[in-house]
Amino acid sequence: MKVLIVGGVAGGASAAARLRRLDENAEIILFERGEHISFANCGLPYYIGDVIAEREKLLVTTPDTMRERFRVDVRTLHEVMSIDPKGHRVRVRNYQDGQEYEETYDKLILSPGANPIKPPLPGIESGRVFTLRSIPDTDAIKGYVTEHRPQRAVVVGGGFIGLEMAENLLQMGMQVDLVELAPQVMTTIDREMAAFVHEHLREKGVNLHLNNGVAGFTEQPDGSILVAVNQGGPLPADLVVLAIGVRPDSRLAREAGLQVSSSGAIVVNRRLQTSHPDIYALGDAIEVEDFVTGRRGPIPLAGPANKQGRIAANNIVGIEEEYQGTQGTAIVKVFDLVVASTGNSERILRSAGVPFESIIIHPGSHAGYYPGALPMTIKLIFAPDTGKILGAQIVGYDGVDKRIDVLATAIRFGGTVFDLQGLELAYAPPFSSAKDPNNMAGYVAGNVINGHMPIAHWGDVESMRNDGAFILDVRDPIETEMGAIDGAVNIPVAELRSRLSEVPKDRPVLVYCAVGLRAYVAVRVLSNHGYTQVKNLSGGFKTYDTITRDLAAVGSGPSPDGSGGGSKETAAALEPLTEVGPSAPAAEQPELVLDACGLQCPGPIMQVFGKMKSMNPGQILRVKATDPGFARDISAWCSRTGNNLLDSGREKDAFYAVVQKGDPGLKAISGSTAKAPAAANEDKTIVVFSGDLDKAIASFIIANGAAAMGRKVTMFFTFWGLNVLRRPENLAIKKPLLDKMFGAMMPRGSSRLQLSKMNMGGIGAKLIRKVMQDKNVDSLEALIGQAKLAGIRLVACQMSMDVMGIRPEELIDGVEIGGVASYLAAAEESNVNLFI
Ligand code: FAD
Repeated sequence: MKVLIVGGVAGGASAAARLRRLDENAEIILFERGEHISFANCGLPYYIGDVIAEREKLLVTTPDTMRERFRVDVRTLHEVMSIDPKGHRVRVRNYQDGQEYEETYDKLILSPGANPIKPPLPGIESGRVFTLRSIPDTDAIKGYVTEHRPQRAVVVGGGFIGLEMAENLLQMGMQVDLVELAPQVMTTIDREMAAFVHEHLREKGVNLHLNNGVAGFTEQPDGSILVAVNQGGPLPADLVVLAIGVRPDSRLAREAGLQVSSSGAIVVNRRLQTSHPDIYALGDAIEVEDFVTGRRGPIPLAGPANKQGRIAANNIVGIEEEYQGTQGTAIVKVFDLVVASTGNSERILRSAGVPFESIIIHPGSHAGYYPGALPMTIKLIFAPDTGKILGAQIVGYDGVDKRIDVLATAIRFGGTVFDLQGLELAYAPPFSSAKDPNNMAGYVAGNVINGHMPIAHWGDVESMRNDGAFILDVRDPIETEMGAIDGAVNIPVAELRSRLSEVPKDRPVLVYCAVGLRAYVAVRVLSNHGYTQVKNLSGGFKTYDTITRDLAAVGSGPSPDGSGGGSKETAAALEPLTEVGPSAPAAEQPELVLDACGLQCPGPIMQVFGKMKSMNPGQILRVKATDPGFARDISAWCSRTGNNLLDSGREKDAFYAVVQKGDPGLKAISGSTAKAPAAANEDKTIVVFSGDLDKAIASFIIANGAAAMGRKVTMFFTFWGLNVLRRPENLAIKKPLLDKMFGAMMPRGSSRLQLSKMNMGGIGAKLIRKVMQDKNVDSLEALIGQAKLAGIRLVACQMSMDVMGIRPEELIDGVEIGGVASYLAAAEESNVNLFI
């Protein structure tokens, strides 16, 4: 059997090797019009950026290896010019000697790939405008960069190749403008997921021009080029990379009369045979079945091309195998971020008319208590009735690849969200959590399907508000200082049961927290109390905040001077928020360092506050945290507390902020959003009457939050609340019988408190503690310790102690004993006075 193969890279080389392994006697000729076969297309941007230092590393297999190991007749610099399907022959041009000749075949495999799209725009043929597909393209860009040392690059197209090029060019020191016609980069993921990518690109200094198209290119006499865009002024550049997609290279097939689709891709059956059964086609040139919807179209990716090469070879030697379709699993590194997707996005499903539901979660890459855990955002899309997984998207820093691969496998095996719940995945603290993010995605989606947790999406907020929904924010008060949904009412989840009267029963209720977990608890509390129109905002405030800020940034469009909203935002983010004016020379005050890695909001902010209390005005604190929300939170916190954020950003595996302690004596610069430190009547008092665990936690979270905002806080413990302050040890104190009995019946200290509701014989309290620990929320004991460090006055009511027979030595250290007068005196200085 004589087999000819057209194209010697991903699909073609794979088919040739498989054929030889299956048939030692076949005559195999591989034609490649370029100089190289089997090179690493996917590595090209990284070679340009010097991440891959040696050019040879790109050449995965050489023609010599193919000849020696597989006895394949490799003919590089040979282009197949035409096919005669009836005569089973092809016409070939040999670029080495300029001659043309014919070659016959029994079977022909076409793997000619795709060509970069180059629309007929004015100036597109300029030598300063490049596309990237092959090694010569790479050499051309690399040569140009070496020779001309460009300072400014415009990348057109926000797909995988455009993003990889933007990263590599920027890291070579160029200013990069990225122009994308769509309102988002990476159209394989949905809009809110792309918002995380936009944010990261802007942080890194890429000037994003979304919703904007390129209109033409004009070379300038000084060697630069002006890129005309549809909105805003032209973008000056020294180098342009065009990466707006590829078109299947189906010329040969079309001219040979083979069937070609309207999208220009070669039509094949599941055995990868074209409309002529002796001609097979594969890779970027063909139309494939979408594995999820069954719709046909080109999906140009390396994995499918390689697999199809193998399948075509199998079928040629008589091993019947069908290609099952492509689900588009893809992953890309965008600076520090990893973005991955598999299956279909909402956009594709909507256009295909497929019903779907989706959830968003923000789990950690591994156990939060083990160093280096970083959050990721997972979007899971599934059939609303059966839970069959239709698509998944992940944006994160670490562990994204393995999560997307598990989800891709689940899709391939027809898995449902319920199957995800049962997956037993490798766990030890450095790698994952006992419930892996994919298990969690399954649980959350399962709760949606079985009705335990009705959800709304970020896009529903406006319409729900217009429909009169009550928007309930169940985060801790300190978190609301870093932003909240307009019109939301803040009732921390721990207080919800005691404040149900504030939540209307006759209106829809949209509940949210930071990421969706506490809101889930709140949804359950409300549902169990007879609320019937309650929904959890999927992905929580983190998703809502990211997408709304991004929509605002994109909406503002490019500035008249041609620079994108991105660069401005980046610059603004790095500006100090208040005037930098240390009250003492910096040299006299040592810089302090705080490592808040592994803690989730509001943990890092609480730690910053605690540390700054002991610092002098003007002194500098360098903080490291792994919570990516920290950069934004610290900025809001500083502006409200009169401290100065000198710098913030990301280094290696953590976020950092440099904060200078503010000086009440310094004036904030005009226009600054900074507030002066707390005025005298901004103190807070809290009467802690309850000895329930949840209420005690809520009290201390509020108290610590207020203290973190610089307010003076007094907590007055009376009656059952005194139990919070009791020592856990059983002290041998002589007491009258009644006092002894009282003491024995009441919980001794914070660790023995019970939940006010759903206590379930103490299991509820244990559960809450476990959940808090898993989520890195401080325990009640830690909150009490922080309160003491923050200088919060803990006052035990003398009268209640007498009544309940509690002696001063039974209380923990640092507690004052006071009468109602000391409470009232504090209350008079306060503008908030809570009774819990
Ligand atoms: P190709 O690998 O392009 O091979 C086609 C070959 O056929 C070409 O070398 C061409 O010269 C030759 N040819 C065409 N016509 C003729 C003819 N008439 N005669 C002789 N030879 C001919 N995919 C991923 O999955 N992940 C990634 O990270 C990724 N990154 C990429 C980065 C870049 C910069 C590029 C360009 C592509 C990337 N891809 C990636 C896509 C992936 O490389 C392609 O999907 C894959 O190479 C397609 O394989 P193929 O065999 O169809 O075509």
